[in-house]
Amino acid sequence: AQTLTEFDTIAAISTPIGEGGISIVRLSGEDAVKIANRVFKGKDLTKAPSHTIHYGHIVDPENKQIIDEVMVSVMLAPKTFTREDIVEINCHGGIVVTNRILQLLLRNGARMAEPGEFTKRAFVNGRIDLTQAESVMDIVRAKTDRARQVAENQLEGGLLAKIQAMRQEILDTLANVEVNIDYPEYDADKVTSEQMTRVSQSVIGKIDGLLKTAAEGTALRNGLATAIIGQPNVGKSSLLNYLTKSDTAIVTDIAGTTRDTLEEYVSVEGVPLKLIDTAGIRHTENKVEKIGVERSRKALDQADLVLLLFDSSKELDPEDRELIAATANKKRIVILNKTDLGQKVSAAEMKELTNSEVIPTSILQRKNLNQLKEAIKDLFFNGIENSNDQVMVTNQRQVGLLEKAKKQLQDVIAALETEVPIDIAQIDFNGAWDTLGEITGESSPDELVNQLFSQFCLGK
Ligand code: GDP
Ligand code: ZN
Repeated sequence: AQTLTEFDTIAAISTPIGEGGISIVRLSGEDAVKIANRVFKGKDLTKAPSHTIHYGHIVDPENKQIIDEVMVSVMLAPKTFTREDIVEINCHGGIVVTNRILQLLLRNGARMAEPGEFTKRAFVNGRIDLTQAESVMDIVRAKTDRARQVAENQLEGGLLAKIQAMRQEILDTLANVEVNIDYPEYDADKVTSEQMTRVSQSVIGKIDGLLKTAAEGTALRNGLATAIIGQPNVGKSSLLNYLTKSDTAIVTDIAGTTRDTLEEYVSVEGVPLKLIDTAGIRHTENKVEKIGVERSRKALDQADLVLLLFDSSKELDPEDRELIAATANKKRIVILNKTDLGQKVSAAEMKELTNSEVIPTSILQRKNLNQLKEAIKDLFFNGIENSNDQVMVTNQRQVGLLEKAKKQLQDVIAALETEVPIDIAQIDFNGAWDTLGEITGESSPDELVNQLFSQFCLGK
């Protein structure tokens, strides 16, 4: 593995492959300007002031062949993302040309960047902490505006500030403990013990607050896995079409992150839904539709949220009741569709039966669909404050460390209750301080940092 102290000049394509008209090849490092200048015909880039952009051509110095017409930005250290010299070549020739430019830079002194290496340099050079680095990754992957907002907020250090405040509380107490050990008085132990217990409880409370956001944070990041369930002909495909076709709802997946063609992402009132088995719902259109019990079981297993549809113009039959039972332990919203045909099943009756939010709709006539979207939003954000400056924990690494710190503090409290000597309890107290530091990278070993950054997309 690479160590943290190599600072050669790296290059990568930093826009999603195959998307949009313009792509950017980015260089970072001491020789960024020099290398770019070797292949650039236009202004002498080595004389360019920082943060300027220049028109010209990329030319292969070996055969003088023009490869593309470009705009080149020169940004000099330290006011750059990596705190190194950065050159960005904006080209518009499509993927083949973009690749040729990258290859040319590699032949002229740059090294191909590893995934996440730009962000890693920003971290190593002290520009950002780990939570901020992780949020860069999240912004790249953000599927909706709200998810992007949370990620951007972290990039500004929201989580960092919270963690640092907790660490400070612990540190202040530790300082006190040291003083009391140095100057033992009659009740010094008692005072210290009380303070450690109090601070442990206070920090645990704050950790719990952050952990509460984790479920939502993770869902924001990955999309809330949603299954559309119901008998044939109740309107599943119509709902799917509505959700995926309405202009505001479509979220195009970022190139390179598409994993499973059976999933589609939509944003409903800022809630990213990962719709499960949409192929199944679309696919069955041309055939005599069967409910595919096996298939919906699978979809159900994976689902965080179930949209359960009924044809409200018909009486409930045993299969409907079976579906109600099968989804009973899921977060669900019951949709009484086809209200335009006259309702045989009332919302009140259904609510009684399912103990869930019930929304009568006519998908065909686009009736009450806003109420459905609101219900999805409310279910998702229930109790969470929907403000822009919210700090959320958005990944498993952070959750794991918060849980570990919490456990250490609980151990401190338990130890002090049984009158274990203070300096023994202090070990866990110290440990919690370390663990919290790992979240922000203040106490991260190199290996962890390397592993973490390798998860990034290429070019970031
Ligand atoms: P699926 O089998 O559950 O996927 O149901 P579809 O979405 O394919 O719908 C079956 C039929 O019901 C289609 O002809 C739809 O146009 C129709 N349909 C869907 N929603 C409504 C509705 O709200 N009212 C009425 N009258 N028809 C609907
Ligand atoms: Zn259908």
